[in-house]
Amino acid sequence: MKTSIRIALITIIIVILGSVMVFAGEPIKLQLDGRIVETDVPPIIENGRTLVPYRALLESMGAEVFWEQDAKMATAILGSHRVQVTIDNNTAFVNGITKPLDVPPRIIDGRTLIPVRFVLENLNCAVDWDPDTRTVIITSPEKEGPTVIQSISYEETDSSYRIVARGNDVVKNIRTFAYEDPERYGIDILNAAFPEGVGSIEADNEIFKSVRFSQFDSDTVRIVADLNEKVAGKVSLSDDRSTVFIDFDKSIFAGGDVSRGGQDGRGQDVSEDEDEDISGILPELDWRASGKLVAIDAGHGGSDSGATGKINGKVVIMEKDLNLDIALRVYKMLEEAGANVVLLRDRDITMNLYSRPEAANAMNADLLVSIHNNSAETSAPNGVEVLYYDKVGIEAYGITSGEVAAFIQKELVRETGLRDRGIISAPHLAVLNKSLMPAVIIEGGFLSNSNDLQVMLTEEYREAYAVAAARGIIHALNAWADR
Ligand SMILES: [Zn+2]
Repeated sequence: MKTSIRIALITIIIVILGSVMVFAGEPIKLQLDGRIVETDVPPIIENGRTLVPYRALLESMGAEVFWEQDAKMATAILGSHRVQVTIDNNTAFVNGITKPLDVPPRIIDGRTLIPVRFVLENLNCAVDWDPDTRTVIITSPEKEGPTVIQSISYEETDSSYRIVARGNDVVKNIRTFAYEDPERYGIDILNAAFPEGVGSIEADNEIFKSVRFSQFDSDTVRIVADLNEKVAGKVSLSDDRSTVFIDFDKSIFAGGDVSRGGQDGRGQDVSEDEDEDISGILPELDWRASGKLVAIDAGHGGSDSGATGKINGKVVIMEKDLNLDIALRVYKMLEEAGANVVLLRDRDITMNLYSRPEAANAMNADLLVSIHNNSAETSAPNGVEVLYYDKVGIEAYGITSGEVAAFIQKELVRETGLRDRGIISAPHLAVLNKSLMPAVIIEGGFLSNSNDLQVMLTEEYREAYAVAAARGIIHALNAWADR
């Protein structure tokens, strides 16, 4: 006991001395575009990096600043640049992609201090340090113009009819839409300009007749394909994110009427038997939502086995294997239903904490669904739940994480028959708070509960979980399409 008190005291003394050293010397000043910015707590230097209170500085340069208390995250958005840092965390997200930080943000005296050079340079500012006057000299970026769409063209690839829009810079934000009577599919490129004003291309393939494009409003470029069939395009970006591709999959069109849910016309590789199976279990996917990219994540994997289920002290199942099996089923069901779906892992590999949201961000996914099963310290907790977090910027997607969670939870309770634990906001989880798009984590039953475990060891459970997830996702996509 005495020893631990002594260690605690020594620690406190070291912390106090450390703080004194950090704050020693002339106060550090911040200068933005030639003017001194006052902050309520002074900047500090840690390991050669200057940490500054973020809000006053960023807001004075016109950035949007968000603090998410539960996730301990600060997000700054300036023009097309978005930087997100988390307290005491050495991984930042810049435009949705991870970047290492040598000094993480800190909370000192109740204020959030951010590493000024890292954050500002990633917001496209120039940052200098004058050692004589101990001043951080910041030059804010030239006001960013819209991305100029230099050309819009049409081409045929082996697998698709493709519309290509080339920008002079990063394309920031895209929204897809689809309408009926007459059928149209299109995208809005936000914060963009099309100097030609208006144009069109005759395409006349079996999926669409023509492509029209225009400066839709002051900062939106709209591209619309006039469809022959109810087929949604799949939108992707080039690696440098300056070119947008809209692909209309040729395999979708197999002659005759293209419709969903058990009719022919979804490609010859799907047999009629399978078609009928799926249409009996899953709701029909609204064609207008079939271009939305759904990323399915099988939780854990490789050296991270997740929870384990034990009988008489012996491991009978590992969560990572159960998750992967269910995720593969969900993937197959959604693909057969005509959804645009991708798996983040399809094998038993190790993925680090941030690679999952990062991968979903990089591929511009519209929805991220992570497949897990639960466990607790004690054997009592049981049942199923869906975790979600409605983070900053979610409104732009047209559906919230909470809405998606509710669709899935309803199906999960019904299909598995396990106890309903409801949907739960979980802001601290990286898969939920580092992904840009609506995201949920499905937690199946508890491997630590003997009754749940008995159910979870069956083939029927895996299938029921997968059907529930696929059904919930399709209901969410359909609700989305209706907006
Ligand atoms: Zn898990």
